[in-house]
Amino acid sequence: MSNNQHWIQRDLAVVWHPCTQMKDHEWLPLIPLIRGEGPWLFDADGNRYLDAISSWWVNLFGHCHPRIIQALGDQLGLLEHTLLAGATHRPAIELAERLLARAPPGLTRCFYVDNGSAAVEAALKMSFHYWKNQGYPRKDHFVSLQNSYHGETLGALSVGGVGLYRDVYKPLFHPGFSVPVADLYERRDDEPIEHYTDRRFAVLEHLLVEKADQIAAVLVEPLVQCAGGMRMYPPHYLSRLRESCDRHGVHLIADECAVGMGRTGTFFACEQAGITPDILILAKGLTGGYLPLSALLVREFLYQAFYDDYRSHKAFLHSHSYTGNPLACRAALATLDLFDQEPVLENNRQLHKRLTQGLAPLRGHPHVADVRITGTIAAVELAQDGPRKLSYPAEERRGLEVFRYGLQHEAWLRPLGNVVYLMPPYVINAQETDTLCATVCAGIDFATRSG
Ligand code: PMP
Repeated sequence: MSNNQHWIQRDLAVVWHPCTQMKDHEWLPLIPLIRGEGPWLFDADGNRYLDAISSWWVNLFGHCHPRIIQALGDQLGLLEHTLLAGATHRPAIELAERLLARAPPGLTRCFYVDNGSAAVEAALKMSFHYWKNQGYPRKDHFVSLQNSYHGETLGALSVGGVGLYRDVYKPLFHPGFSVPVADLYERRDDEPIEHYTDRRFAVLEHLLVEKADQIAAVLVEPLVQCAGGMRMYPPHYLSRLRESCDRHGVHLIADECAVGMGRTGTFFACEQAGITPDILILAKGLTGGYLPLSALLVREFLYQAFYDDYRSHKAFLHSHSYTGNPLACRAALATLDLFDQEPVLENNRQLHKRLTQGLAPLRGHPHVADVRITGTIAAVELAQDGPRKLSYPAEERRGLEVFRYGLQHEAWLRPLGNVVYLMPPYVINAQETDTLCATVCAGIDFATRSG
């Protein structure tokens, strides 16, 4: 029995994996990983895989980065964890200072949580609770965008729009509103982008005109709807949204869990629209992908609405045991150091160009309906008939074929249905990028060879 087989056998006897139909593992190999180095992951039999999806979009500067390890080691010798209620510590303070210093103007407070979904829950609660504290308890609905994804807990799922994850739990949700986004994939070539964006936005504007008195906040993933298939929309939609939320007295929550930390070409995706949301959520890459941590960057007026005498019962009591964990904050500080000390955004512009070139051969492929790229997120939409955007039935699992092809060619891809995407760690080099793109092109040829 190989080392891999040994671990697979033990795993399948006891572990229930996330986002997985476990029966698939009767024929689909599970990969027992032993170690990581830069953008590479190594399994127990010594095979290596390029981590093309940054381990679910969290890893920014590669695995086992010496400076992040050093920072964690230093912190481990000082203080591993303590509660953040009634106590504080240097990593939490410094991280809040540095995130707010980088954030769009007007964000002045940092509220820590410990993962993306929980941060979304906290943001929804904070927005609703703000309006209640201000004397508007009827503002208890949220607006989200079709095809959006904000996490897997009940509140986060209820504002999500991807049926695959949410439909079964629908009876458990608080009702809300869902409106179309200006998804560029759905735009007809003959309609100018701005016109299309305004037309799509009009539905949201109309909803706010009619129902703002029942709406606490609009929640969006700025620029890229990641779990919804890396669908992209223009910054103009966000500028319209900011203006409209202001006019109608509704909060704007930007969920930058996946798109923040330099992913879309700017440090925060919102910067591209020149807007400041009322709450900006960070998670995933916040710690460089080393430990779970999330943060809500919040405008001062929200904070002030909770600031009162104890007897007023206005405080925001949301809490998790690992809120602001010192190790996680220290990993995040080391990650920010890398942004400060290296030309990360400039390097990412080169990576963007390289990905664009590397995937260019797929433009015009008979089974590719779209190749799109924002920052260092590149996606390829597979289709039975590319030019007509006629998708493959989900049951054919074409993306899974690309995944399997990738594994045999040193690439760890994890397509989202018919969407094959790359979101690599920023430290991937030019030659690795070219090889990865070539593997994606060949994998797509392989997966679409019949029909
Ligand atoms: N929001 C967005 C935009 C996400 O992409 C995700 C995770 N894919 C989440 C929230 C949830 O984050 P977590 O997995 O840390 O709960």
